[in-house]
Amino acid sequence: PYDVLVIGGGPAGSSAAVYAARKGIRTGILAERFGGQVRDTLGIENLIGVKYIEGTKLSDNLEAHVRDYDVDVMTLQRAKGLSKKEYIEVELENGAVLKSKTLILATGARWRNIGVPGEIEFKNKGVAYCPHCDGPLFKGKDVAVIGGGNSGIEAAIDLAGIVNHVTVLEFLPELKADKVLQERLYSLPNVTVYKNVQTKEITGTDKVNGITYIHRDTKEEHHIELQGVFVQIGLVPNTDWLGDSVERNRFGEILIDEHNATNIPGVFAAGDCTNSPYKQIIISMGSGASAALSAFDYLIRN
Ligand code: FAD
Repeated sequence: PYDVLVIGGGPAGSSAAVYAARKGIRTGILAERFGGQVRDTLGIENLIGVKYIEGTKLSDNLEAHVRDYDVDVMTLQRAKGLSKKEYIEVELENGAVLKSKTLILATGARWRNIGVPGEIEFKNKGVAYCPHCDGPLFKGKDVAVIGGGNSGIEAAIDLAGIVNHVTVLEFLPELKADKVLQERLYSLPNVTVYKNVQTKEITGTDKVNGITYIHRDTKEEHHIELQGVFVQIGLVPNTDWLGDSVERNRFGEILIDEHNATNIPGVFAAGDCTNSPYKQIIISMGSGASAALSAFDYLIRN
């Protein structure tokens, strides 16, 4: 068996594997695709100490850093089940079973897509998902935020300080965000909110030039010219495969304590697949490091 087995090769999993390997213990990493969400990111400007790096480059660096150590690397394979017997066992989709004394779950998350025409075509060409990451790219421009929950309204408030104008589109008749956030939003001069509207299409040529929405009551169709669309309808953790084996919250996020421990002894979790409140590269890397140090601590005590 491994001493530490890491599932996921994004910032959290890569960091966990490097930290575990540096303890000289038997470490394995299973990653469907190294880099995770970072591989889908155009440019990163908020990894402190690295002024700018392309997402594909950082992904390649993560893989190279892990391979620099004595780590068993298994790529292009997906985990599909977890159980605890004498050791912790992870079953793969190809039927193989990996055994380990400790496990670090770092399977990350994905943004929920709105699924309208234009979303996929203009991804990274005006369609964005992360205001902390991509907000500054829209400085002085007009943007829309789809989604009136907490993340949507936080995004709109954040963006209003950077861009020229923000239009919020909410499907339901009322915003679902906390009242304090709504008050803050409505106090801003450069924000317009449309409720009870359905996004029909994100338009553009080589990049986004507008959005079309429909009033759900009147069925009237409108088009707004703008340069950016932030889709904020939720982040989905990649944890379905865990079923009831590990405790998760109602969003599907794995519940961890301050040592990154889950409810199963020896099983830790890190990064975007957990209930950590902020989902960012630097936070995931720190979280992966903490999980590996906790796993090592667990091994020397058990
Ligand atoms: P992920 O990056 O999601 O990695 C998950 C890993 O698990 C992958 O290797 C995946 O292949 C693997 N995996 C998943 N399921 C399985 C399975 N069943 N079996 C095996 N392997 C599996 N953050 C910033 O700090 N700055 C930015 O500029 C920035 N821009 C972003 C732009 C976009 C478009 C997106 C989508 C996100 C951006 N983020 C940014 C957020 C950042 O990418 C994430 O917070 C970070 O990647 C989370 O790291 P993670 O390791 O927890 O998960």
